[in-house]
Amino acid sequence: MKYYIIFGPPGAGKGTHAVAIREKYNLCHLSTGELLRAEIAAGTELGLHAKALIDNGNLVPDSVVEKMIAKKFDEVKGVEGFLLDGFPRTLGQAEDLDKLLGERGESVTAVVSLMIPDSMVHERIRHRAAIEGRADDASDEIIENRIKTYHSQTEPLIDFYSKQGKYHEVDATGSTIEENRARVLALMEKIEA
Ligand code: ADP
Repeated sequence: MKYYIIFGPPGAGKGTHAVAIREKYNLCHLSTGELLRAEIAAGTELGLHAKALIDNGNLVPDSVVEKMIAKKFDEVKGVEGFLLDGFPRTLGQAEDLDKLLGERGESVTAVVSLMIPDSMVHERIRHRAAIEGRADDASDEIIENRIKTYHSQTEPLIDFYSKQGKYHEVDATGSTIEENRARVLALMEKIEA
């Protein structure tokens, strides 16, 4: 099985490009953000706890997302692998993922990182807010907090995966989705070769 991670700051286009990668390589796309939003929509206890954290631009506890991911690894059949989107997001999650995969005789295949500058994060999320109506996209203050959280808690993963020789970066600042998608798929082809 392949275990790809699509990585990058909020609004970099992870979810958008994940769809093209998923289809081309027969992967199961797992977005922890989407899984959490589904829990909120269903009104579960987990969703209730997660909502306040997410709406303020903070992360939910590692154990919560790890349980959701492990459950999907057990359940999902008939794919060549997984495309993890928005997970791992902390060093603790990355270490636990290595453990979880190790127990299964598996490992992370590669990290595909979409890079955009902070100024573009604001621009992209403002655009998305008008389309998707997510509470955590609604204010500059919350977006700023998510950028801060990304730099302090998630960015250290670049070093973590670089040391494992698994980190690959794409310049995702192209002006159209198509242009950026072509760059992402070209990188995937190189990794798969
Ligand atoms: P974006 O695409 O803007 O990065 P996501 O949909 O991936 O947003 O995540 C939305 C929110 O869900 C995050 O800001 C965070 O509160 C929560 N979340 C998603 N994934 C994780 C994770 N791996 N660990 C902790 N919190 C998470």
